[in-house]
Amino acid sequence: MTAVAQRHQVGRKSGAQSRQRLAKPASIAPKLLAWYDRERRDLPWRAKPGEPTDPYAVWLSEVMLQQTTAKAVGPYYQRFLEIWPTVDALAAADEEHILTAWAGLGYYSRARNLHRCAKVIVSDFGGCFPQTEAELLKLPGIGPYTAAAVAAIAFDAVASPVDGNIERVTARLFRIETPLPSAKTELRSAAATLTPATRTGDFAQAMMDLGATVCTPKRPSCLVCPLQEDCHGYRHGVAASLPRRGAKIDRPVRRGTAFVAIGEDGRILLRQRPETGLLARMIEVPSTEWLDGVGDSRGDALQVAPIKADWWRVPDIVTHTFTHFRLELGVYRAVVARNAPLTIWADGSRCRWVHRRDLEQQALPSVMKKVVAHALKGL
Ligand code: SF4
Repeated sequence: MTAVAQRHQVGRKSGAQSRQRLAKPASIAPKLLAWYDRERRDLPWRAKPGEPTDPYAVWLSEVMLQQTTAKAVGPYYQRFLEIWPTVDALAAADEEHILTAWAGLGYYSRARNLHRCAKVIVSDFGGCFPQTEAELLKLPGIGPYTAAAVAAIAFDAVASPVDGNIERVTARLFRIETPLPSAKTELRSAAATLTPATRTGDFAQAMMDLGATVCTPKRPSCLVCPLQEDCHGYRHGVAASLPRRGAKIDRPVRRGTAFVAIGEDGRILLRQRPETGLLARMIEVPSTEWLDGVGDSRGDALQVAPIKADWWRVPDIVTHTFTHFRLELGVYRAVVARNAPLTIWADGSRCRWVHRRDLEQQALPSVMKKVVAHALKGL
């Protein structure tokens, strides 16, 4: 029995009974690769046919693409490559500069891990990426998906990355009815049975492209799909309902108050967040702690303002959704005298005044960009 067939066998035994066995799993790869050769997406990080693949570009794009759309990643990816064209350049960069360039992309631990990983690749591997999934997995910030994606795409190693697109295609091909997230192991096992022994990088990217352009979440275009005749989800008329999802978990709400102090010279008071925790070392306007169920309208919010001033409560609130909670921020604004003294609440050692026109050069996370925009509306 071949390794692929063995994997398929094991997968069938361990998977839920809802999975349909494909008649000819080995026929999927040739069909999909032929489709990919005609229809592949032109993406900035993707080597053109016949061009060598740059592992640094693959790794950078895969880290950026986690939880983020290709459209949002495009400009960030280009900017990073312009500033840091090699892993050596990135390793030598200042972390705050990296965080600033990353600002707006979210999930900032990725940026810090990117920097740590670049340093390890330079110090321990002489600037060359390790080529196997197992070695890649040992690097900072590289999880099973990224290790498999870099191994397959950059080095054509036999590896099966499973992102959201591939999960969806696999759930439909095999008609896997187990809801996510419980189905993840079953999906990975099923997807691995499809991986060919050669062109593994192209195959992984073909699955991603099929999910992004044909096997789309709401209305899969089954009539033009190269895998239609193999697809159990299509055959049973349930494709659009797969993958199934477990009940949504309501995120708890945290609330706080943000203070936008504007100097008469147009500068804004900013503060660096603590070394650890959520948005560590990113830049913010001073705010109260973000606590469960505490409203910004409580009388003591102004008592922890960073400057004594005539604060004005900006109407409405700013909301932002993090992975584990939803944040609601009330916003106060004040125009303050130049060199107005900070209160002890401001933690002056972490504060700085930055002109409005220079805010783009600060590592302001999206939530703080929203707060500043909200406060400056109409000014
Ligand atoms: Fe997806 Fe339809 Fe193709 Fe099946 S036939 S893989 S559901 S697009």
